[in-house]
Amino acid sequence: MPSFETDVAIVGAGPTGLFAVFELGLLDLKAHLVDILDRPGGQCTELYPEKPIYDIPGLPVVTGQQLVDRLMEQIKPFGATFHCGEMASGLKRQPDGRWKLSTDAGTEIVAHVVVIAAGGGSFMPKRPPIHGIEAYEGKSVHYAVRKMEMFRDRRVLIAGGGDSALDWTLNLAPIAKTLTLVHHRDGFRANQHSVGRMRELAAAGTIQFHVASVKALHGAGGQLTGVTLLGHDKREWRIETDALLPFFGLTMKLGPIAHFGINLHENLIPVDTARFETETPGIFGIGDIITYPGKLKLILSGFHEAALMAQAAFHVCRPNEKLRFQYTTSSSSLQKKLGVAS
Ligand SMILES: Cc1cc2nc3c(=O)[nH]c(=O)nc-3n(C[C@H](O)[C@H](O)[C@H](O)COP(=O)(O)OP(=O)(O)OC[C@H]3O[C@@H](n4cnc5c(N)ncnc54)[C@H](O)[C@@H]3O)c2cc1C
Repeated sequence: MPSFETDVAIVGAGPTGLFAVFELGLLDLKAHLVDILDRPGGQCTELYPEKPIYDIPGLPVVTGQQLVDRLMEQIKPFGATFHCGEMASGLKRQPDGRWKLSTDAGTEIVAHVVVIAAGGGSFMPKRPPIHGIEAYEGKSVHYAVRKMEMFRDRRVLIAGGGDSALDWTLNLAPIAKTLTLVHHRDGFRANQHSVGRMRELAAAGTIQFHVASVKALHGAGGQLTGVTLLGHDKREWRIETDALLPFFGLTMKLGPIAHFGINLHENLIPVDTARFETETPGIFGIGDIITYPGKLKLILSGFHEAALMAQAAFHVCRPNEKLRFQYTTSSSSLQKKLGVAS
């Protein structure tokens, strides 16, 4: 079984976990990250890699994937170890006071500090109740758009009435061969501008909009050829399609973290806002997974939380050392760590 020793073990390689590597690295603390997904980036790369984000300080516009690529570049000097495709499944205190984090792949990481940066937990898209849909998932039924090019010149059917359904309708309409939006009612829980734009495209015949739900799938070997729609008036009709993108929201499953023995409040981890430590000493929490008065589930909040966590984690990892506050602009020792010293 692969076994490692490090300063800090981080559960979750979303934007918050990644930036934590940077803040810890500046303080000479080494990190290992564990993530269920097969690549870093959390929600940014899994749910909206090609969507623009407008509220990252200093970056007027950056897509989810670009932000993650930049974070990966920024943390490169610190050589963190990634354990992707592994779920953090157990946490035990060691006789020497450190923690042992174990994964479902058998990896064990012994660390002074564990940082839970697990976002919405193991987030799972809500699967619509359509018989046999599992057989098409990942082949022609997709719950996220990882690469828009996959849908170029394809017949695409989007189901749902929220922001994701509307956004992808607008984004994929110019490249898909045909685009059909299906929603069970003629009202949406989405940005009004997007709804207006979608109605314009439907009126112009650029896309089709049906008030209906998807009743049955047709195809073979995981490849869809069409679906049966069911209208309000119980009328059924079939339309041809190569891909179905159901956007019915996400279920947040905390997963094994619920059994780590950490105090939880409504599936979130309460922390103090000076150290971002949980009630269990040595276990810290940052990002979407935590709760405190005024918490905002924003990337920039996660970055701030990571910075304060790192300062507190330093004292747990190096109880006999003093921590000197330094700026990256003026500290030659920080610049050396970053590999930019002249
Ligand atoms: C469509 C959409 C648009 C958004 N737009 C913006 C925006 O414009 N601006 C903004 O600031 N925010 C935006 N957000 C929110 C932003 O994405 C989140 O605040 C951010 O991703 C939180 O980062 P995180 O690192 O805390 O968690 P996440 O990004 O959720 O990453 C957590 C990671 O932990 C992993 N994980 C969970 N449990 C385990 C486990 N047991 N073992 C191993 N790994 C585990 C998950 O696989 C995941 O990769 C948006 C979100 C969505 C869905």
